[in-house]
Amino acid sequence: GYAGIDAGGTLVKIAYLSDGSAADSGGEGLLSASLPILVKFPTERIEAAVEWVRRQVPRDTVVGFTGGQAQRLRALLPEYEASAVDVPEFEATAEGAVRILKAEAEKEEAAAASGRFVLVNVGTGTSLHVIEGGERLRLGGIGLGGGTIVGLTGLLCGVRDYAEIARLAPLGSREAVDLTVGQIYAPAIPPIAGDLTAANFARPVPPATGAEPQDYAAAVIGMVAEIVVTVGVQAAGLQKTNQVVYIGSSYQDNALLRELTLRFTEMLGATAKIPKQGPYSGAIGALHLA
Ligand code: ADP
Repeated sequence: GYAGIDAGGTLVKIAYLSDGSAADSGGEGLLSASLPILVKFPTERIEAAVEWVRRQVPRDTVVGFTGGQAQRLRALLPEYEASAVDVPEFEATAEGAVRILKAEAEKEEAAAASGRFVLVNVGTGTSLHVIEGGERLRLGGIGLGGGTIVGLTGLLCGVRDYAEIARLAPLGSREAVDLTVGQIYAPAIPPIAGDLTAANFARPVPPATGAEPQDYAAAVIGMVAEIVVTVGVQAAGLQKTNQVVYIGSSYQDNALLRELTLRFTEMLGATAKIPKQGPYSGAIGALHLA
């Protein structure tokens, strides 16, 4: 069997394909058509990931380790050392993303994954890549990402729990926090859409009721979406493609971030995809490159 473990700053993602599931796959390639088991654990409880691997993954499994905490996790799993492989993070992410896009395109009976695209990995922080077949180049990164959503919302209103932030955000109003183009121009008609953000967190006078935690959560997610999309679409323009693919656990169970990312990308004239298994790109890539 094969396993890929992507130990990131916030979450450990694991993809595991037993010999049994590989044998069932048939078709082209032993691994490509079969479905790995996917699980994740908070990096701050890395022992839970260690326990899961010990219980579920046989000792002779080839394990590809990737991500910032890969060395630490590998050292905690000495039983697998004989068949452990280090997989460079950006290669793992790109490989996994390509495979996920292909698999999800086949499921939707849509055309196979687009030729050239910019990959925006919104993890704890964000990194950008351009991908076309075997060409995989890291373009750069920005320090605004899922970690900003958790950290900044925590600082603003004390809510640090990811699930709670994701639940609250769609109920919030960004107008309580942000300054919109419409507010700057009022009472005149603005030359561009009034609901566009003129300046994040710049509302001069808070509303009479004050800003609530859900308003802060919505404003932080709105800011992250705007910047991540702006950088992603501009990178796409420079790279001569209009396809932008967003991955990373920041899209997991975060309806507002997904919705805004899709909407802003289309608004800026590019095409957005957020594949369902995107959070497991690094783990799936490490599994296949191990
Ligand atoms: P990394 O590889 O850096 O750990 P991920 O792609 O796993 O990054 O994304 C981490 C981000 O995903 C977090 O900053 C947070 O916004 C979001 N997230 C999704 N699910 C969870 C969760 N269960 N716990 C904490 N953060 C989560």
